[in-house]
Amino acid sequence: MRRPFIAGNWKMNGSKAEAAELIRGIVAGAASMQKVEIAVCPPFPYLYVAEQMLAGTAIAWGSQDVSREEAGAFTGQVSAAMLKDFGCRYAIVGHSERRQFNGETDAIIARKYARAVAGGVTPILCVGETLDERESGKTEEVVARHIDAVLDLGGAEAYAVGVVAYEPVWAIGTGVTATPEQAQEVHAFLRERIAAKNKAVAEGLRILYGGSMKPGNAVELIGQADIDGGLIGGAALKASDFLAICQAGEDAA
Ligand code: PEP
Repeated sequence: MRRPFIAGNWKMNGSKAEAAELIRGIVAGAASMQKVEIAVCPPFPYLYVAEQMLAGTAIAWGSQDVSREEAGAFTGQVSAAMLKDFGCRYAIVGHSERRQFNGETDAIIARKYARAVAGGVTPILCVGETLDERESGKTEEVVARHIDAVLDLGGAEAYAVGVVAYEPVWAIGTGVTATPEQAQEVHAFLRERIAAKNKAVAEGLRILYGGSMKPGNAVELIGQADIDGGLIGGAALKASDFLAICQAGEDAA
């Protein structure tokens, strides 16, 4: 049985004080949840706040990106070792906003994934198609390409130490959610693709859904056989909404 996992991607939102307030609310509300795993991914500067406030709690924290390089003259980048130093358990890699606005290719993302693993930080690999790609019947081709970049570099074993998030780009921040059936279909496809290389790794891999997940649709989405939790954007910025989604994960466990 895969342990349900709910992670909040705060993106470039909030202030130091707001980060602290949000974390305080999540810690208080999640105190009774033992089965679901919960993580927050604040902007880099607030990882310090997360470390200070979450150390010793059951809630993990992570970053929204990681450098593909190990160390050195890479201005503005943050290494896996630095994330580890701040107690990060997770690093999101390949979010569609980074693919779109920072020109990240599959090859770059696969290197980031490998660098996170090498640094002792668990990558959360985001994959997903645009609306155009879905409407032209290319969903499987696109998500297969995203998944294969990591398979080609690190083999199926790379997925034994990571998490995947299926995030259809057309559902991110739009309020439009994939139906549970649409999401399940892609999740099953992703798992089968990895199972073709290593069945045990695929069975153990947590595949989260992301894209306008909210309290009103979380139960049904997480109830699907291959949906193991959620990567939450907008709804992760309000403690009560995020906690309601965490509760859906708790109840599914
Ligand atoms: C995300 O960007 O990872 C995300 C899922 O955003 P939202 O929940 O706002 O669609």
